[in-house]
Amino acid sequence: MNQKNLQVPLGVYFRTVPDLTPLSALPLSSWRLGFDRPLVIAGPCSAESEEQVLETARGIAQHTPQVKVFRAGIWKPRTRPGGFEGVGQEALKWLAMVKKETGLLTMTEVATAEHAHAALEAGIDMLWIGARTTPNPFSVQEIADALRGTDVPVFVKNPINPDLQLWIGAIERLAAVGITRLAAIHRGFNWFERTPYRNSPMWEFPIRLKAAFPQLELICDPSHIAGSPEKLGGIAQQALDLNFSGLMIETHRDPMNARSDAKQQIAPPQLKVLLKSLIVREASPGVVHQSELQDLRDLIDQLDDEILQKLSSRMDIAERIGDFKKAHNIAILQPERFDRIVRRLKDMAHDLHLDPKFISELMNTVHEESIRRQRSVPDPNNGIHSTVHANEGLHR
Ligand code: PEP
Ligand code: MN
Repeated sequence: MNQKNLQVPLGVYFRTVPDLTPLSALPLSSWRLGFDRPLVIAGPCSAESEEQVLETARGIAQHTPQVKVFRAGIWKPRTRPGGFEGVGQEALKWLAMVKKETGLLTMTEVATAEHAHAALEAGIDMLWIGARTTPNPFSVQEIADALRGTDVPVFVKNPINPDLQLWIGAIERLAAVGITRLAAIHRGFNWFERTPYRNSPMWEFPIRLKAAFPQLELICDPSHIAGSPEKLGGIAQQALDLNFSGLMIETHRDPMNARSDAKQQIAPPQLKVLLKSLIVREASPGVVHQSELQDLRDLIDQLDDEILQKLSSRMDIAERIGDFKKAHNIAILQPERFDRIVRRLKDMAHDLHLDPKFISELMNTVHEESIRRQRSVPDPNNGIHSTVHANEGLHR
């Protein structure tokens, strides 16, 4: 990885969450594990067999010596029933073999107190709490209680849904039982709108978390965000540009035949290429304006992505309205409809400190495109694309 210059912690651009007690989380450099930034964690989504675990670990150790931690899911919470739920306890000894043979530290997901006890007993070095467990305060508390009095490093993935308070709450529960080697993993959010990725990155959530707990280390899991190897590099770079402290990348000896998340895993030689391509930023306090500007531009890019996603959803709905009109042969004239839209948004613009004239012009442009999309709706009666009168489009 190459070095790229410094930047300002993005937390400074956001207001913090009220009523927070500062965390006693330690920086990675004080974890006594010899970690440098960026910390790279790699390994398969799931441990599948002794051979698969060991071969993957050997490949990682051989191709990417900068990887310090080997991850593998043993207990896999699946959103829907019927998927591969992990091999369970038996895989703990495979991870011990990985450590013995390669020197890589080992890490797995725990979702219950029982998992936590078993992992600790087997000498697993670090734990993570998965996106489906973080949002459940009872589950997190049960795990936290099981870890009380231990010194095990714990990484908390963001909840599957975009809720900052649940993420914060899970981190607080672990901090409250004395976990000081504590970090957050950003794995994106499951979201109903179309996004170019498997999970929507919604970068403002980890940024706001960092604003709430400036000393908390942020790790990015670009594999679950990107959902495909081609998009992995872009997300990983964006995380480094946003001053994340590390990456967790799903790596499998034979990704195509993986029993879970086959579409997004990469093989160790690909991981080597990916890591080499990344530009690492120094979290140096020597602030220069250029890098501060870059941070702000990164945020703008993120917001632009979201505006595009919203526009795409809006156009989908415009097309559905077009479908509906065609199917029901509706030729309704509601001349006040667009006026009402603009009037409502101009009022809202005022509250949001946006220029109402700008909003009116913007909505006109958006609306013209909606009309164009409605016009291209195929007519169910004759199977060809028919034209909706422009005036009709105005009155959705
Ligand atoms: C995983 O890391 O393989 C996993 C299941 O992730 P998440 O909890 O982020 O979905
Ligand atoms: Mn996975």
